[in-house]
Amino acid sequence: MAKKYELDLIRCPICQSFFKQRDIVAIDILNTMSHAKCLYENPVQIKLDIKEVGKYQEIVNKYGMN
Ligand SMILES: [Zn+2]
Repeated sequence: MAKKYELDLIRCPICQSFFKQRDIVAIDILNTMSHAKCLYENPVQIKLDIKEVGKYQEIVNKYGMN
């Protein structure tokens, strides 16, 4: 059950963890999401302008990612 659910989730490209609903994420202008925390800790990973930071669930709902 948990495995099936994870298939629908997106991984953070920096830490390779699946995003959780309440994680704070940053989305860039190409709609790539990373944890906001991961970007702050690895500023070299910020290659594009960040257009929004917010809860994963809210960002997904707003930008229609799946
Ligand atoms: Zn991360």
